[in-house]
This record gives sequence, C-alpha cells and structure tokens, in this order.
Amino acid sequence: MKFLAVVGNPIMHSKSPRMHNNAIKLLGLKGIYTRYCLKNDLFLKEELLKIGFDAVNITAPFKEKAYEIADFKDEVSTHVGSANTLCFKNNQIYAYNTDGIGFLQAIKEFKNIKKALILGAGGTALVLAYVLKQKGVDVYITNRSAKRLQYFNTYKNSLYEDLKDFDFDLIINSTSAGLVNDDLPCSEEILHKLLPNAKFAFEVIYNKETPFYKLCKKYNLKVKNGLEMLLWQGVFAFELFFNLKNQREKIKKAMIQALNLD
Ligand code: NDP
Repeated sequence: MKFLAVVGNPIMHSKSPRMHNNAIKLLGLKGIYTRYCLKNDLFLKEELLKIGFDAVNITAPFKEKAYEIADFKDEVSTHVGSANTLCFKNNQIYAYNTDGIGFLQAIKEFKNIKKALILGAGGTALVLAYVLKQKGVDVYITNRSAKRLQYFNTYKNSLYEDLKDFDFDLIINSTSAGLVNDDLPCSEEILHKLLPNAKFAFEVIYNKETPFYKLCKKYNLKVKNGLEMLLWQGVFAFELFFNLKNQREKIKKAMIQALNLD
C-alpha cells in the first residue's frame, strides 16, 4: 500500500489527488493519494518523513526546498534547483523534476521549433528553458523586472522593454499573469509584434482561458494551455511512485478521465 500526497500551500485547488487516485484504481494498484497543506518549509524533511509518505508531489512554494532536502537528485532537478516529486526509500530522499519532461510531451506536436521566447523568469521558466535548450532550441527569456533574470545568465535575456528580436517560432507564457485577473504578461503592443511571426504558443496556466491564450488564438497560432503539462508531469511522477514501465498510456487515460470529471 503506497501512501502518497501533493504538498503545497495553497493546496485545495490541486487536481493531483483526483488524477492519481483514478490511476491507482484503474491500474488495480494499492495506494492512496491525499493533499497536505504545509505552513512553511522550515521542517519539510522532518515533517514528510514523520508522516510516513512513500512519495509526494511538491507544488508551490516548496519546490526549491524539496530539491535542497534530497539525498539524490535527477538531472533536470539538479540543473534547475527545484523538484516536484520526492520518493522516500530507506530514509533517503530521491528528487525528480517531471515538469520539464511533462512540458516537452505536451508540446510534442509543435514541430521544428528553432527559437523560443519565454515570458517570465520564475521557477517554471527555469525548467522550460533548460529542457528546451537540451533539445537544441535557441531560448530567450524576458521578464517585467530584473531581479530574477540573474538566474538566466546562460541564456539570452532582457526586460520586456529592451526586447529587440520579435521573431520566434514559439512564445511561452510562464508567468501567473491572467491567473486571478485579466492581465497579459506584458504589454499588448509587444505581443502584437511577437505573435504575427510565431507558429506556436504555450500558456502554463491550465484552469482558465487567459487573455494571453485568447490573443494567441486570435492570431491563429497553434496554442496549448498547461493542462497537458499537468497531466504528463503526473504520469511521469506516477511511474516513479509505483516503479512502472510501459504503462504510460493506461496512466494517461485514467488521469484524463479524472480531469474530465470536473
Ligand atoms: P514564480 O513565482 O516562480 O514566477 C512567476 C513569474 O511570473 C515571474 O517571472 C513574475 O515576474 C511573473 N509574473 C507574476 N505576475 C505577473 C503579472 N501580473 N504580469 C507579468 N508577470 C508576472 O511562479 P512559477 O514559475 O512557479 O509559476 C508560474 C505559473 O506556472 C503559475 O501560474 C503556476 O500555476 C503555473 N504552473 C503550471 C504548471 C503546469 O503543469 N501547467 C506547472 C508549474 C507551474 P517578477 O519576477 O517580475 O515577479
């Protein structure tokens, strides 16, 4: 019997329990997946070990701390300094970041991407920039403020107002603009220069049609929201939880079914 959870704050909105529990049920596995709201990360390691989870997903704002407390770290988490999946074995913590591979899987039908522009410079942008670069994509990061751009000094980067190149195949909104209001990540003027040249767009937000998503549709771009990324990061985490191979399609089907239950 596996004891699993998603850990974050806030956590009530998370779709992960529904996705994972349906996969456990449909694959006939033994386990239960719950949600755990943590006040702060001061005793993250001690708390998780004390509760006795076999593995957890970690969401905002604890992904960086989750990475720090791990004894073993996979390649993506090592490069980006954050983890969304922790497995506990023999009192050791194994950290993984399945957001990156989830994102790549979600944009699989976007072919021949040579240049990508990421709007935003947070934790998600770091992951997406890393996996795209690994795929040979020329990645540029742009943000509204300078502070977080310092983490992107191995990439071309600038503030929105200093952007000179407007020719990218793929434009990604990795910011939370549009999540709780109707903000665009940057001025409409900049987007009007970028979107006519692009072929594809990706919006990390998954629970609403954001102004960015709608504008990309107006420009007839092939655009995806973050739902498939959420789905695939869950599928890859589930494989790790139960040490499964060659069951990806079944897991995906179960999780899709759970997401459609809204
Ligand atoms: P961070 O807090 O690490 O970074 C947020 C980024 O968004 C920063 O660059 C910030 O700019 C920018 N930003 C925030 N609000 C605005 C705004 N109103 N206008 C312009 N820029 C803004 O967040 P994360 O990277 O962890 O998460 C970003 C989003 O990605 C969230 O909405 C989250 O839900 C989503 N997400 C989706 C996943 C999926 O599976 N689909 C997985 C993980 C995350 P500044 O530096 O100036 O503050």
